[in-house]
Amino acid sequence: MNFRTVSLAPGLYFVGTPIGSARDITLRALDVLASADVLAAEDTRSLRHLMDIHGVPLNGRQVQSYHDHSGDGATARLLGALADGQSVAYASEAGMPLIADPGYGLSRAAAEAGHLVTAAPGPSAVVTALTLGGLPTDAFFFDGFLPSAKAARRNRLSELQDVPGTLVFYESPKRVAQTLADAAEILGPDRPAVLARELTKKFEELRRKPLSELARDLAEAPVKGEIVLLVDRAGKPNLNEADLETDLKQALENMTVRDAADLVSRAHGLPRRQVYQAALKLEKGRA
Ligand code: SAM
Repeated sequence: MNFRTVSLAPGLYFVGTPIGSARDITLRALDVLASADVLAAEDTRSLRHLMDIHGVPLNGRQVQSYHDHSGDGATARLLGALADGQSVAYASEAGMPLIADPGYGLSRAAAEAGHLVTAAPGPSAVVTALTLGGLPTDAFFFDGFLPSAKAARRNRLSELQDVPGTLVFYESPKRVAQTLADAAEILGPDRPAVLARELTKKFEELRRKPLSELARDLAEAPVKGEIVLLVDRAGKPNLNEADLETDLKQALENMTVRDAADLVSRAHGLPRRQVYQAALKLEKGRA
């Protein structure tokens, strides 16, 4: 038996569940599932199945359904249990609740009502993909699922083009080819990227290639399964002092120092202050 029945303090316990391999669950998560007064899940069947695999008995407890569209009744029932001093365990279908999964409203409501909100954490596809992808992990920006409408998706990609960290997206196999094509066009064809597929499962795969190559691969041969896309941050612009000076001199022919600095800093992707100083120097030199 891998779990223990423990005495849980009253409160809300977010439980991390596997993203593939059923054994990727912590012993403490099993303890919480075995011991909570109330069990709630995004998908009640999946949670019952997981508990069954690990031999955790329901002991007469029902698994209540709770997801983002459950409405106020479901939230009120769980808040009521917390107010009665019970322990409530909540699991989403896979991975960590709230990470592109339900739980946010419940978490806020429970915290605002003054209840303990805690977790028995587990795997998440974002972190697993970052760990395996080979792109920098010092800073990353998780954007969940991009919009499915083309125009909205392209707008969102434009908004993200200068984020100073690795971009992380969840994507469906149906849309991934189109998303990669848009990303290659908007973020740049040469940006290093990773397609992480079926993590922790039998057909786990990591393809590390520039965006344009991934887009071509996927257009030619669609893939199946669950997917995380990683995209490296934009490379530092190639700072070519001579180009900068030439552009500034040209701009200063018919612009103020301020306007010339604005224009050239945008064109070179450089901080405005740095270009402004360079423009001032050139202007003084001309006087
Ligand atoms: N809460 C989950 C987590 O913590 O990762 C995410 C749930 S979200 C509804 C499901 C999406 O996560 C999938 O469509 C896929 O993009 C990604 N995902 C989940 N499991 C995955 C896996 N094993 N391999 C790759 N991506 C996965």
